[in-house]
Amino acid sequence: MSLKNHYYYDESTCEFIPITYNRKEQVIYNLSIWILTGVVFAGIGIILLSTKIGSPSELALQAENEALYSQLESTKEAITSLDKQLEDIATRDNEVYRSILGLDEITIEERQAGIGGTNPYEEFDIYEESTADLLKWTASKIDNLERKIGIQNISFEEIKNQYNNNKEKLTHIPAIKPGSGILLSGFGLRYHPVLQYSRPHNGLDFRADIGSPVYATGDGVVKFAGRKGNLGRVVIIDHGFGFETLYAHLSTFGTDIKSGTKVLRGQEIAKSGNTGLVEGPHLHYEVHLNKRAVDPLFYLFADTSPEEYMMFRRISETNTNSLD
Ligand SMILES: [Zn+2]
Repeated sequence: MSLKNHYYYDESTCEFIPITYNRKEQVIYNLSIWILTGVVFAGIGIILLSTKIGSPSELALQAENEALYSQLESTKEAITSLDKQLEDIATRDNEVYRSILGLDEITIEERQAGIGGTNPYEEFDIYEESTADLLKWTASKIDNLERKIGIQNISFEEIKNQYNNNKEKLTHIPAIKPGSGILLSGFGLRYHPVLQYSRPHNGLDFRADIGSPVYATGDGVVKFAGRKGNLGRVVIIDHGFGFETLYAHLSTFGTDIKSGTKVLRGQEIAKSGNTGLVEGPHLHYEVHLNKRAVDPLFYLFADTSPEEYMMFRRISETNTNSLD
């Protein structure tokens, strides 16, 4: 931009005369034009930023919102996982502890009851729908977890009292691992390695080299010690209160282990082996309650830590083959 092309009209001569500026005037003019242009563009920029993109403080708030939202999403995952673990505890509580001790089951409805009002979380209605939903879900789940934990504590208290009043019965109930090896296969439909088809597997298979000690899992009386078809050498113990346990594929029986012998929990009753229809040496262990085979995984509570129980449960759920 320059001042070269500016004219003025000379009325006396009736012609356009070019205006001439000195160097200083020209520099000031150019500078003014540049400053003006700069101001206009800066203005447009600020307007665009504040309307389309947001002011710096709005941008910071937006980033904070996104961080909070993603934090809420991970909290949601954590809550879901805690809820699942609490449900597992509730199942074990009902199916094992309460049932063994003759306490009534606490139903899912009873464990979840207690959240009142038609819309107890209406304070979140002022937010955008997706945010309000997430906040309501989180708040209601946390209330729900607190409720479930409270009920679980009451249940454990009841169990403790019942236990103290039923110690004799409890020494008879199968409650420990029958051998020291890790779990190889669980209860339920499993693929039989020798017969080569799936069929109900009525017990647990534990790793056990030939000659490993096998223990009575509760006090009782030996009902049978001898050969029993595909199960090979077997010991069956009658524990009373409707419970029986069965130990299969044994190599030898312990001293005096015969029908009518009284045994105590933890007493060695036999050595494991590979007799009967097996793929290899291991210990097959069954628990029967009122003549029905039940999952022995629920009857290992006296010597199994929660971590070991969860590991056994994972193995039991994922391994589709049995060893017999
Ligand atoms: Zn088995």
